[in-house]
Amino acid sequence: MTLRDIMKYIESEYKVINHTPCEICGGDYLTEDIQIALIDDIPYDLCACVCSHCGHEKIFEFSAPFINENGMKKIRNNLN
Ligand SMILES: [Zn+2]
Repeated sequence: MTLRDIMKYIESEYKVINHTPCEICGGDYLTEDIQIALIDDIPYDLCACVCSHCGHEKIFEFSAPFINENGMKKIRNNLN
């Protein structure tokens, strides 16, 4: 999988986040941080989001079996 494919995957995650209204006030979530965590040996992409209206925090979990640490570093470099 190329970095471009990974970025597409991340973009689709952002779409899910953008289409999920805050469960408290219905506002929009903003992504604050992305982390990779291993759950049962499967890498998960954990997006820490905060509501832009009320500040409610929510963690979005996406399975990301293709992502390793090097891939994640590339993504972080690309985002910054
Ligand atoms: Zn809210």
